Amino acid sequence: MAGETIAIIGAGLAGLAAGVYAQMNGYRAHIFEHHSQPGGVAATWRRGAYTIEGGIHFLMGHRPGNPMYDLYRQLGTAAPGSVVNMEDYGRFVDETSGRIITLSSDLDRLGADLKAFSPADAGAIEDLVACGKAMRGPELWSLGMGDPPELSPWWGQIKQLWALRRVFRFYGGKFGRPVVEFSKSFHDRWLQQVVNNLFMPEVPVWFVGMLLGLLADRQMGLLVEGSHGFVQPIVHKFKSLGGQISYNATVEEIVVEDAAAAGVRLADGAVHRSDVVISAADGHSTIFKLLGGHYADAKTKARFRDWRLVRPFVMLSFGVAREFPGEPHFTAFLLKEPLQVGRQTIGGLGLRIFNYTDRFAPAGKSVIQASFESEWDHWNALQNRDRSAYDAEKARCAQEVLRRLDARFPGIASQVEVTDVATPYTTWRYTRNWQGAYEGWLPTARQIMTPVTRTLPGLRSFVMAGQWVMPGGGVPPCLVSGKQAIQILCKWHRKSFVTG
Ligand SMILES: Cc1cc2nc3c(=O)[nH]c(=O)nc-3n(C[C@H](O)[C@H](O)[C@H](O)COP(=O)(O)OP(=O)(O)OC[C@H]3O[C@@H](n4cnc5c(N)ncnc54)[C@H](O)[C@@H]3O)c2cc1C
Repeated sequence: MAGETIAIIGAGLAGLAAGVYAQMNGYRAHIFEHHSQPGGVAATWRRGAYTIEGGIHFLMGHRPGNPMYDLYRQLGTAAPGSVVNMEDYGRFVDETSGRIITLSSDLDRLGADLKAFSPADAGAIEDLVACGKAMRGPELWSLGMGDPPELSPWWGQIKQLWALRRVFRFYGGKFGRPVVEFSKSFHDRWLQQVVNNLFMPEVPVWFVGMLLGLLADRQMGLLVEGSHGFVQPIVHKFKSLGGQISYNATVEEIVVEDAAAAGVRLADGAVHRSDVVISAADGHSTIFKLLGGHYADAKTKARFRDWRLVRPFVMLSFGVAREFPGEPHFTAFLLKEPLQVGRQTIGGLGLRIFNYTDRFAPAGKSVIQASFESEWDHWNALQNRDRSAYDAEKARCAQEVLRRLDARFPGIASQVEVTDVATPYTTWRYTRNWQGAYEGWLPTARQIMTPVTRTLPGLRSFVMAGQWVMPGGGVPPCLVSGKQAIQILCKWHRKSFVTG
């Protein structure tokens, strides 16, 4: 059969999904993974008696009735009891003024709570809530899970627009603008910060509306066993369908013969030949290193030169001998005492408390995790120059953050049993994502709406998947991109695509 064997680069979510659908469709897939574990950025690791979550915050579409759930089911990762529904989005705290707000999944209540803080902002708050309500329901997600650009003819795009007519107005005008611009009209400065940080300030307003819609539909959940519990069933499904994975197998080159991908060469020199290659790895190294930049057209080069990347972050996890009953799973703090890291002043911290599950810490203990955005250059330069300076900076950040947490949770500093600090450099080291961009391209209003093709001009038998072809990344889009890679192959090989 033409195109029978596939080499897949990367065992992140996209590579694993491509592997499962490849096996379902009669191909023989072999995944080559740089790290010793599957999952890519959807990573979980052990530190002593504690489990540290390095990835997925919330799972979208975790219940039946949404096409995302169908995708998880096809991939074998929709076990009952594996997800706790998010009853609220989290809490925002301004340490200076003492103001606190919990963002309810009841959108009317959310609107009322926000308006109670600032009646003068009622108009903008009502817009946000209206957008969230409009984005409820599964139809939008059916569209997002459709065909890749290569398989979507112009009439398909018209059909999509028609199906979107109910919410069409929410994709343009004020709702199509970046949140950070929309929020400029807010009179209340703190509320403005809250709105900006509902996700990333650069995303369009409709994106935040979409998250609110999912929350209201009870389609946002927390993973009981973390990313590990989500990834392992997909690995299991892939292997049970006959797929093969090699770990610690870094691909150094994509072998090209007669303008067609013909296999991969690993760092140890071994060459694995295949009929097709799918790269579900970092986009920059795939195009400019593994393929030597030979197939980068002007559009691709411009994207890597001009597009903005997701800002990398530092994640500080503490295993502590205490519990946090009643604390929300997520709190965003606007700090009274900002933190200086490199050239940056860090004004806020995100805080995850894993108190919704007993799988992360022994009884009576907990994992608490703070994070902040931080520059790639700072950490990369430190690491390259002097490993001990890099380690010292990690330790200093941990201490500074802990001191601020101690003011919030008195005594915590003396209850710490385990400290784990992951920097942008850590993200690169374990996943090879360019400049530590853990979700690839920043989902700005423009970038998120720009389709990125999965194939490269002049190169046959090669497809890309993952967050570097799905601007903004995210669990469902990356899984879908793996599925789409196999849809493209089936089209090439004139086969019907199947999902079971
Ligand atoms: C902290 C964090 C929180 C997140 N929260 C959410 C969330 O709440 N909800 C949500 O939907 N999404 C979330 N995401 C985003 C989502 O997890 C990612 O977008 C998605 O998992 C990316 O999958 P991927 O397969 O495209 O890429 P990756 O996970 O980067 O996988 C690529 C794989 O390729 C391997 N690789 C790279 N180069 C090579 C090479 N040369 N040879 C062999 N292997 C190679 C890497 O080691 C890696 O395993 C979060 C991400 C992070 C980091």
